[in-house]
Amino acid sequence: MKASGAWGLLLLLGCGIDRSLPQYMQDVPRSEGDAKRAGEEIRKELGAAVLFEQVEGYFLVASNDTPERFRQCKGTIGRVYQHLYDDFLTQKPEKPIRVYLFRDKESYEAYCKTAYEKAPTTPFGFYMARERKMVMNISTGTGTLAHELVHPLLAEDFPDVPSWFNEGFASLYEESRNRNGKLVGVVNWRLPGLQKAIKAGRAIAFKDLTGTTTEQFYGDDRGVNYATARYLCLWLQEQGMLARFYKVFKAGAKDDPTGLAALEKTTGRKLEEIEKAWLPWVAGLKYP
Ligand SMILES: [Zn+2]
Repeated sequence: MKASGAWGLLLLLGCGIDRSLPQYMQDVPRSEGDAKRAGEEIRKELGAAVLFEQVEGYFLVASNDTPERFRQCKGTIGRVYQHLYDDFLTQKPEKPIRVYLFRDKESYEAYCKTAYEKAPTTPFGFYMARERKMVMNISTGTGTLAHELVHPLLAEDFPDVPSWFNEGFASLYEESRNRNGKLVGVVNWRLPGLQKAIKAGRAIAFKDLTGTTTEQFYGDDRGVNYATARYLCLWLQEQGMLARFYKVFKAGAKDDPTGLAALEKTTGRKLEEIEKAWLPWVAGLKYP
């Protein structure tokens, strides 16, 4: 269990760009010729049969899955990307992001062993910041793809984002719906564990959660940390305040790096009052 935390940490801390990134990753493909060359390079790595497409300009998406599944994944990428830039982010990436989608556990693990000389510690997928590369086992669903997509984009827009919001916001889109033309996060598998932790008196106070360092956030209590952060984001979304919170947080992060002041400012409530409203709201949610 420890190993997967360290792995996550390694990925998220890897903000510096790898100088050994191949040429096709140095700039977003601007022409069909550029995209074609990028596709050829990726096929050299993944095999000649993989499907390849440049999506929304920034994503170099490759997959060994069926065309139908590939189409679904491209749809997820497009929806999340559009949603983020419609309502939250302003800074676009400067370099492309690779998205490798494997159709099953076998090909996903085989790739990880070839590329990183070790088996992946997560069955779902991960993002390697240094390589600007997402590696996914897409047979587990598109939830992780949506989650992992948020990280590189959020990192461009809000480089100092603390882990609690980085993960809470990313995990919000693990399960989402279209509501009146907007993408919204909905209740997901992280809820029962959170409700159990709250009942057992193992909840983490917002003050402690927002104050966690990256290492603390991904420590032994990461399950509760992720879930609390996600359901705080979901609560803000349902109050119609998530986009405003993000803007206030980002704008004031120099003086308020945890986002606590932004939380109080956006909601117009003291932290204790927010928790007082949030706890019974979480208790009343149902999953599935
Ligand atoms: Zn994440």
